[in-house]
Amino acid sequence: MPPTGSDPGRDEIKSRIQGLIDSSEVLVFSKSYCPYCVKVKDLFKQLNVKCNVLELDLMDDGSHYQDTLLEMTGQKTVPNVFINKTHVGGCDKTLQAHQDGLLKQLLDGESYDFDLIVIGGGSGGLACSKEAALLGKKVMVLDFVVPTPRGTTWGLGGTCVNVGCIPKKLMHQTALLGTALQDARNFGWQFEETVKHNWETMKTGVNNYIGSLNWGYRVQLREKSVNYVNSFAEFVSPHKIKATNRRGKETFHTAAKFVLATGERPRYLGIPGDRELCITSDDLFSLPYCPGKTLVIGASYVALECAGFLAGLGLDVTVMVRSILLRGFDQDMANRAGEHMEDHGVKFLRKFVPTSVEELEKGTPGRLKVTAKSTETDEVFEGEYNTVLIAVGRDACTGTIGLDKAGVIVNKKNGKIPVNDEEQTNVPHVYAIGDILEGKWELTPVAIQAGKLLARRLFGGATLKCDYVNVPTTVFTPLEYGCCGLSEDKALEVYGPENIEVFHSLFWPLEFTVPGRDNNKCYAKIICNKQDNDRVVGFHYLGPNAGEVTQGYGAAMKCGMTKDQLSNTIGIHPTCAEIYTTMEVTKSSGGDIAAAGC
Ligand code: FAD
Ligand code: NAP
Repeated sequence: MPPTGSDPGRDEIKSRIQGLIDSSEVLVFSKSYCPYCVKVKDLFKQLNVKCNVLELDLMDDGSHYQDTLLEMTGQKTVPNVFINKTHVGGCDKTLQAHQDGLLKQLLDGESYDFDLIVIGGGSGGLACSKEAALLGKKVMVLDFVVPTPRGTTWGLGGTCVNVGCIPKKLMHQTALLGTALQDARNFGWQFEETVKHNWETMKTGVNNYIGSLNWGYRVQLREKSVNYVNSFAEFVSPHKIKATNRRGKETFHTAAKFVLATGERPRYLGIPGDRELCITSDDLFSLPYCPGKTLVIGASYVALECAGFLAGLGLDVTVMVRSILLRGFDQDMANRAGEHMEDHGVKFLRKFVPTSVEELEKGTPGRLKVTAKSTETDEVFEGEYNTVLIAVGRDACTGTIGLDKAGVIVNKKNGKIPVNDEEQTNVPHVYAIGDILEGKWELTPVAIQAGKLLARRLFGGATLKCDYVNVPTTVFTPLEYGCCGLSEDKALEVYGPENIEVFHSLFWPLEFTVPGRDNNKCYAKIICNKQDNDRVVGFHYLGPNAGEVTQGYGAAMKCGMTKDQLSNTIGIHPTCAEIYTTMEVTKSSGGDIAAAGC
């Protein structure tokens, strides 16, 4: 059974057990009266091998050792045998290993090729492999990018660097610069020529920077003596993988422990024309031509961010929304972010889903006809676009990596991997981190933190676990939305309306005033738990530099920030972030929240 929380006593015993595993050639957890334990001890006696035996029935905290062993190895019964840091198992497994010759291999110390093999060289996998190598372990990391249906592929570093956060934020910045250019005239800048955007120049600049990051990661792995292999990995048995490179050459590698960090790839719709004619975010950031009039299908992070920057480059953009914007986020905030996009020219086709995409004309870009149907009526929509960007979610890359051969359980419905609070799967020597985890955040810093802490626990005697609560995040829509903690709806559900107080305010960033744009469109909101000293359980910000603003308040929430503490904090003037130090109007009062000035 997975552990339910961090227990200092248990953590202490765990680190004692880990110390014994690390320092013993042969370690046997036993009970003095158990006949199976006697068999195993006799075997080692016959082999003339000295073992470190712990008779749990003769120890005061023996039962706690047994519980912790269950957590660490999935096995509660004794004997429980380790040889040269490798978990062998109980009596039957030890005798079998003796028969197979594996026991001798383990005793000779030639057990596995690596202490750790990490499958996937993205945010989580790189962080974990580098940390494990720093702790003196022999580590291999495998990374392989399966090309998109259009043939797009990229280098080392995973989604964030190549087809996620980095190119997305740079293209968002490109769009912000366009707005800044318009603002600049109001601030007195004079330029005669018509301002135009060149897709090719932006794409080349962004991709050159990505190339430098890809190279940097390879250098870091080499410097830290991590064995990097550019091959696709799949399990062939619980401790062995097959690695297949681009040319189809296969090699085999074994390890004592494995970390799965294979991430996700964009999902397709399963309608005629989707794979052949449409693109996803995996193609967009290196598209060799300007996409032109674009239909974005989907309404979450990826869809709204891409739609936002494409519109900011001056393109005609429509977002096809199946139900709501930004499912899972505070809906009040999501709708305000959407309204701002709509005010700035993005079209929203609500309550429609696509049924087919046909090619009208080839080209770069060509012309496509999209047919869609209403989710509420019999209405059918037809539209023509140059590019259709599918952004309807992402699928975990867990279906083709031989997890059945390793015995790892996967949630069949969504391909996600369930883990305990130490990122351990149901197979004790296999761990998983990042986007493939069930019920966890799909964010780069989360994958990195989980990977780094996992390596420290596995190989550095550390006990600190990744904290998945109150993770700050930002959606880089044209007006950015940052948040941490609960949405208003969730807070009402968890604490009840009578226990919640919401403070909120509209505001007008100083830099928007002279150009006279977006007056009172920015919005700040905190949700407080009245029963707990008005502790802030939800933080929401819609305005410029949302990531920068939210990061600091995220740290404050980790320290237990209350409304009083916010009010006692002196603001930095003139900034947007200072709004939280002066917010006095409660939502329940219905008071005026429009800002009179900046
Ligand atoms: P990944 O980074 O996806 O890495 C997995 C790697 O494993 C990939 O290189 C993959 O090719 C490789 N692989 C898969 N299977 C195998 C195999 N069998 N053998 C070898 N290699 C394999 N997060 C943020 O925090 N901020 C953002 O602004 C942000 N923006 C995003 C924008 C977009 C468009 C997208 C799509 C995502 C964004 N994310 C953002 C999410 C972020 O990119 C992911 O949460 C993060 O990359 C997850 O890291 P990971 O290590 O789990 O997987
Ligand atoms: P997502 O959060 O799973 O959202 C999928 C979207 O597609 C939803 O709007 C959904 O609508 C819609 N959809 C699903 N199936 C559809 C269909 N058949 N037809 C039409 N619409 C459909 O996916 P995502 O945007 O790809 O994001 C994946 C993850 O990446 C996120 O969870 C996030 O953690 C990470 N990410 C982070 C950032 C960031 O930090 N700034 C940016 C991008 C991505 P319904 O609501 O109707 O289901």
